[in-house]
Order: sequence, then structure tokens, then C-alpha cells
Amino acid sequence: MATKKPLPYWLDGGPETCALCGHTHVLQAQRRCAACDRPNCEHCVTVNRETGEVLCHECLEAAGTEENA
Ligand SMILES: [Zn+2]
Ligand SMILES: [Zn+2]
Repeated sequence: MATKKPLPYWLDGGPETCALCGHTHVLQAQRRCAACDRPNCEHCVTVNRETGEVLCHECLEAAGTEENA
């Protein structure tokens, strides 16, 4: 009997769809942008280390807050 290991549920798509890349994911892996309030996958957001604010890459670019001082 061949035992086929199913993918972990968080890697095997999900009911949620990322607004940016269209990747499907489970709600637990979702990051919601603080600016546009769209649901994104964790790969399409950046978390501000200082404020903890979550911004999608589109809003991050629009805000132009890339201050790599
Ligand atoms: Zn994404
Ligand atoms: Zn956004």
C-alpha cells in the first residue's frame, strides 16, 4: 500500500486569495494591509519592525516609506 502524504493544509491552497499575487492560502496565513485593507498572503506584505504595521507592497511603494537610512 502506497501511503501518499497530503500536503499540510497551510501549503495546500485555501479559501482565501491574495489580492496581489493571487496565491491561495488559509486565513491563518493571511496578512491584511493596514492601508488598503486588502487580504494578502504573507509574501506580499511587509511588517514595519518599529510599529508592527502591516503594509502590502503596493501601499509600501505608494507611501514611499523605504527609508533605509
Ligand atoms: Zn501574495
Ligand atoms: Zn495595501
